[in-house]
Amino acid sequence: MVILGAGPAGLVLGNLLHGSGIDCVILERASRAHVQTRARAGFLAANTARVLERHGLAEGLRRRGQEHSVCEFRTEDGRFRLDYSLLGRGERHTVYPQQDLVTDLLTRFLDAGGRIRFGTEAVAVLGADSARPSAAVREADGHPRRWQARYVAGCDGRRGAARRSLPPGAVHRHHRDHGVSWLGLLAEAPPSLDAVGYAVHPRGFAGHMARSPEVTRYYLQCERGSSANAWSQDRIWDELALRMRATDHGPLRRGRIVQRSVVDLESDVLEPLRHGSLFLVGDAASVISPSAAKGANLAVLEAEILARALIDDLVRGDPEPLDRYSAQCLTHIWRAQEFSHWMIRLLHDTPGPDGDRSFQAALRRSRLESLRTSRTHQDWFAENYVGV
Ligand code: FAD
Repeated sequence: MVILGAGPAGLVLGNLLHGSGIDCVILERASRAHVQTRARAGFLAANTARVLERHGLAEGLRRRGQEHSVCEFRTEDGRFRLDYSLLGRGERHTVYPQQDLVTDLLTRFLDAGGRIRFGTEAVAVLGADSARPSAAVREADGHPRRWQARYVAGCDGRRGAARRSLPPGAVHRHHRDHGVSWLGLLAEAPPSLDAVGYAVHPRGFAGHMARSPEVTRYYLQCERGSSANAWSQDRIWDELALRMRATDHGPLRRGRIVQRSVVDLESDVLEPLRHGSLFLVGDAASVISPSAAKGANLAVLEAEILARALIDDLVRGDPEPLDRYSAQCLTHIWRAQEFSHWMIRLLHDTPGPDGDRSFQAALRRSRLESLRTSRTHQDWFAENYVGV
């Protein structure tokens, strides 16, 4: 089995297959140091923690993860909080930085004797419509090589070789550009509130998400096409304080901004997630905007579904679960996409025809009011917010 990419999807898949005695290799373009320090997700859903627990991969999460269950909305009408552990299915998030999860999964895989080739870039997947597909790669020393296997798992993200190798017409790409961009920021600063903060402001959305007692992620809605470096540190903090209404609700704890990037909010789903012997997993299968923090959670869920199906096929000789892989994952993916889309419309004015802006703003206000006051709406929110 060849696995492309050592992100959450590839590493969960690799650990589960290796643990079941299936010979596999993970081919990763970046260095070990790079994948272990790439800060991205942080909010892990209850089901993600259960998957990791089930396979003995949750030790770090259990020891260092922080349970989280409150979000706070700030609007022109004031603020309100939802404790989602008391709503819906009563589940919580675990806050655990993605780079720590990746480090745990990597260490576990290597300690168990798993094979990873860092600095190895997949260039193409060849023969996916045959029973002997292969990955053509450029090795760390620049030499080309082919890795052949019974199956290839594309866990190499949205710009990886797996997607690029799909022949025209093999899959349909559903795509939506939500027309909204965020400046994603990582600050060396303790969280400013004990909740995820969502601020809806006439100047645009601002978000606050704890990552650890010393590090906090912030988001600022920005103009499409903005440069991440166009904002000075002072301007970022002043704008965050303004949109989060710090004067009314308490000051922000400022610190050095150590990472920044502009994220265009997009949704992208491929269908089906299998082409012959090639399977798509995680961001290679679907990209979801970070508005609902679902991407890493979907990646872990899909990796477990694929691992189980591959074990059924390769160990027990039952190919049927593999045939169901795509449909099973797409059910979860579309549910997450629907919720993420709903969150985008709750938190922003999205572009529309003339006159639409005030209509959208009024709808958004009404949605927020319903979320503040309706227990039924809150239960639905909680179930979808923590769930994948
Ligand atoms: P990746 O993590 O992208 O891993 C793919 C791997 O493949 C990488 O290591 C890459 O180097 C490697 N690779 C790429 N091309 C090749 C190639 N050609 N050959 C070999 N290797 C290759 N999700 C959440 O669930 N919660 C959150 O709170 C959250 N916050 C986010 C915040 C930000 C700013 C961003 C950008 C994303 C966030 N996400 C969040 C999304 C989440 O990080 C991704 O969905 C997740 O990383 C997907 O995992 P993956 O394993 O599919 O892909």
